[in-house]
Amino acid sequence: MPHVISQACCNDASCVFACPVYCIHPSPDEPDFATAEMLYIDPDACVDCGACVRACPVGAIYPDTALPAEQLPFIEINKSYYPKRPEGVKLPPTSKLAPILPAAEVHKRGRHPLTVAIVGSGPAAMYAADELLTQPGVLVNVFEKLPTPYGLVRAGVAPDHQRTKLVTRLFDEISRRRGFNFFLNVEVGKHLSHADLLDYHHAVLYASGALHDRRLEVDGMDLAGTGTATELVGWYNGHPDFVDLPVDLSHERVVIVGNGNVALDVARILTSDPDKLAGTDIADHALAVLRDSRVQEVVIAARRGPIDSAFTLPELVGLTQTAEVVLDAEDHARVRNDLATVRDDFTRQKLEMLAKLGSVDSATAQPTRPRIRFAYQLTPARVLGENRAAAVEFTVTGTDQVHRIDAGLVLTSIGYHGTPIADLPFDDAAGVVPNEGGRVIDPATGQPVPGAYVSGWIKRGTNGFIGTNKSDSLNTIQALVADYNAGQLSEPIGGPRAVARMVHARQPEVIDAAGWKAIDSAEIARGDAQNRPRVKFTRVPDMLEQVEDYSGVPLLQNLLSALRRN
Ligand code: NAP
Repeated sequence: MPHVISQACCNDASCVFACPVYCIHPSPDEPDFATAEMLYIDPDACVDCGACVRACPVGAIYPDTALPAEQLPFIEINKSYYPKRPEGVKLPPTSKLAPILPAAEVHKRGRHPLTVAIVGSGPAAMYAADELLTQPGVLVNVFEKLPTPYGLVRAGVAPDHQRTKLVTRLFDEISRRRGFNFFLNVEVGKHLSHADLLDYHHAVLYASGALHDRRLEVDGMDLAGTGTATELVGWYNGHPDFVDLPVDLSHERVVIVGNGNVALDVARILTSDPDKLAGTDIADHALAVLRDSRVQEVVIAARRGPIDSAFTLPELVGLTQTAEVVLDAEDHARVRNDLATVRDDFTRQKLEMLAKLGSVDSATAQPTRPRIRFAYQLTPARVLGENRAAAVEFTVTGTDQVHRIDAGLVLTSIGYHGTPIADLPFDDAAGVVPNEGGRVIDPATGQPVPGAYVSGWIKRGTNGFIGTNKSDSLNTIQALVADYNAGQLSEPIGGPRAVARMVHARQPEVIDAAGWKAIDSAEIARGDAQNRPRVKFTRVPDMLEQVEDYSGVPLLQNLLSALRRN
């Protein structure tokens, strides 16, 4: 009864280190860790102890006999990572453990304990805080623009992926640790500058992600009825910036350009049964629009062929278990051609899964739910329409042939792109802050910018999964702590109380951990009443209303007493 890692795998590798026989790979020190779509348990070496189950922050690991039916393909997916062995051959147990990456040991120096400002509160930020707080006495102040923390876990992960959101339990636990402080509803670049933060901290670590999506530069992308998948993600997840997005689903077809995992998320939500979504934390405004939707088909259009599909195998498995997914005859032929040439095992499994999909014509005659169609070799040329989008015109990639698909909503899903951070250098082409191992580098001098560090998407670009940020942030924290230990970071001009006073003076509506707890509890209570995980507040004033006395001195006192406790 070996254990199996399923679709929700977050890649944070906690399971790898919990395993007593080192049977989960790739481990963070192995070369393919950075590109792995998930982690895999070797069924022939697993000793079924269940240690990985307890370590996994998102509940993605099951004994094979307890896997939910829709996750059964993951038995084969886990197995296929390992070399084929004769049937029934169990590897002898080993006492080898995964090589533990050394903690960044802080050597106390100076008047103040190591004090770090982290900008952003998503996975990269929280894993960085986690790593810093393994060291006694360290102070971590997390600054977040929104009144609510956890970045893309709250505002990016699809509402029907509640298991993935379980990682917030780990983040909650980190935020309760001694030395941790939230400064929510505070925008760096508006209320505070980089220099302000550096005055009061030894170092400033930016883990602010890549907020904006890449734009498709074709005619017609300014028409009503066009937008980006990431805006739609923000809209259905209740991000305050996207509450008023005009989403019109009163037509039959949606086209999504690009076929990465974000495109799959959006297509799934647009085609899901609203009654099922009603049991999630989807924003109420989105649920109401989805209930009235007249969409019958969502086309996910890629400019290359099936072999180059950007979505991952785990997400394709999940999609095909929950939606009707089809291909037309030409794309079925492309899949067959690609199957004849494919070399890598996981891409083969993707193609085999695509080959089994229904075809456009033989699909369910009277579908109860809208379907999803993958379309390949389509390079977007322009969006057609008078006042609003009516169709997308593509060229068949590599030819002059024109292919038109009618659609009332055209979304591009061609990846996120980092935006410049005030007072830091920026590599516009790559959409990242130039850095070496997380140390920000000034391209003019080739030298590190003193006290400035990055982690997550703004450091490495928009790739990987939630847990990929754990080893990424560890790598940055090792650099930061090495610089601190070497005496290269300037002493803050004041202690923790001075930080709290300075922030409060700049943004009286700053929200601390207790304030977030008030918002969190109110959302969960609203959810309880409807048998949902939570009902989100989607407007900032409504969030602030949950925080007692947010505008006055009591909040400052809260902050100060929290700091005293620390
Ligand atoms: P992505 O995986 O990079 O996919 C981008 C897609 O856009 C590709 O199909 C790409 O095609 C296409 N594209 C780029 N430029 C284009 C252009 N000018 N014209 C037409 N197509 C173009 O991006 P993503 O979907 O935004 O995902 C970002 C990251 O988040 C990924 O690492 C993803 O795995 C992760 N994520 C994971 C999950 C999950 O695990 N559930 C959910 C969401 C996001 P080419 O390949 O031809 O360039």
